[in-house]
Amino acid sequence: MRHPVFFFSRNFENALINPDNPHILKPHLLCAAWEKPLTEEDAHFFGDTFSQEVAELEKEGKLKRRGEHWYLSPGVTYPAQGINIRSTSTKNFALIDTSQGYELLETIESSFAFSQVHPGAIYLHQGESYLIIGLDLERRVALASPTDAPYYTQAKEITDIRIIRANQEKVCSGVRVYFGEAEVTTTVIGFKKKMQFTEEVIGEERLDLPTQRFLTQALWCDIPQKAVDRIAEVGLDFAGGLHAAEHAAISMLPLFALCDRNDIGGVSAPFHIDTGKAQIFIYDAYPGGIGIAEKGFEMIAELWRATLKTIEGCPCRDGCPGCVHSPKCGNNNEPLDKKAALILLQELQPLEIARKQKRMTK
Ligand SMILES: [Zn+2]
Ligand SMILES: [Zn+2]
Repeated sequence: MRHPVFFFSRNFENALINPDNPHILKPHLLCAAWEKPLTEEDAHFFGDTFSQEVAELEKEGKLKRRGEHWYLSPGVTYPAQGINIRSTSTKNFALIDTSQGYELLETIESSFAFSQVHPGAIYLHQGESYLIIGLDLERRVALASPTDAPYYTQAKEITDIRIIRANQEKVCSGVRVYFGEAEVTTTVIGFKKKMQFTEEVIGEERLDLPTQRFLTQALWCDIPQKAVDRIAEVGLDFAGGLHAAEHAAISMLPLFALCDRNDIGGVSAPFHIDTGKAQIFIYDAYPGGIGIAEKGFEMIAELWRATLKTIEGCPCRDGCPGCVHSPKCGNNNEPLDKKAALILLQELQPLEIARKQKRMTK
């Protein structure tokens, strides 16, 4: 909002879909087979992974081969019905209003369910507050009842990311940036109750929920040594700087990838176990990935530039929701160091911009 010209002059043509994502492709192959038996020639329409996915569906017993054709197995009925058009996953939780004869309010994707509809959570549905009074993991049902509680809840979660493999890499402003596959594990360990408007913490509860894991696509980048040195020189918090830069980048990426910030996740680590060094990760929050991190990898220079501009242009002193705070941070926005993030992002700019920036901060 502070840069309306930039915002409104954006091209908005970047609608993303990743048709090679097996979570998207496989259900579509079943739908196609319902219309007309599949043949080898259909690889022409469904891409390079066609044969592999068809073989898997055959193994899973959903397709049956007869001669040159694959047919739907007899037990499979109208596959389109089981496809979720809003996400890659078909496993949703139903949110049920217990006060209205157990009416279905909405469905929530399973990857968000634990952080949004855990027992004790306040959930907003069409502007109304609901208290979650039960979560049945087996039947995938969350029970809610209307509430006028003056507080909201914020889940605390631990997220870990492991690199499976880098598929692409490039050097941007002197640092290496990678794009590839990663495994994300998340455990929701508790939540805080915060008063509306004052943000005062009035309670904290622990939760015992199973760890969720999924494979997805991610981009990650090295951190310029100069940034590490400069941050140490002035005695700022390096981990807080990484975390703040990650948050701000996640809030900017939707401008480039046309997505919601809930579609993206991030992890920053001063020391990552797979690389042995400091790293910022940005990943697609959907199993298999939908192309967001890939877009971010493509446009990484623009992303760093927009992120720097946002932090720089924010009039707050130590960080606010307009720059480095994230509403969905699993770590309650701690630690964050806005000034360290500024240095980090300056060092991530192409040389000419970086020089200009440094003169300005002096
Ligand atoms: Zn701010
Ligand atoms: Zn965070």
